[in-house]
Amino acid sequence: MTRVALIAHDDEKPEMIDLVRAYEDLLAGFDLVGTGTTGQRITDETGLDVERKQSGRLGGDVQIGAEVAADELDAIVFLRDPLTAQPHEPDISALLRICDVHDVPLATTRTSAEYVLDGLARDTE
Ligand code: PGA
Repeated sequence: MTRVALIAHDDEKPEMIDLVRAYEDLLAGFDLVGTGTTGQRITDETGLDVERKQSGRLGGDVQIGAEVAADELDAIVFLRDPLTAQPHEPDISALLRICDVHDVPLATTRTSAEYVLDGLARDTE
């Protein structure tokens, strides 16, 4: 089954909820994993089940990176706040790097996320 990770920085969490609602029918057919707070909010505010890793600052990004290294993930939507420094920036950089190494598509904005999800929808047709 297609497995997708969902991560959003605090300022971007409302955008993530909006995106997930817009793609709920597609995402309902995927295996979803997320960082702690993002995953909790998606579970609470939409009808979708999300496997929750640690919160980003406690290692959730690293846990998701480990899945990429193990070839377990098909794509990541990581809505980043480009204007606020994050305490776990090294973990985030490591996640971006391992996605590049394994050619796992990682979308960091709403529009790129829509393109990636539309591509997954096409691939699963
Ligand atoms: P969170 O983590 O979903 O637990 O807030 C995301 C992040 O900060 O990378």
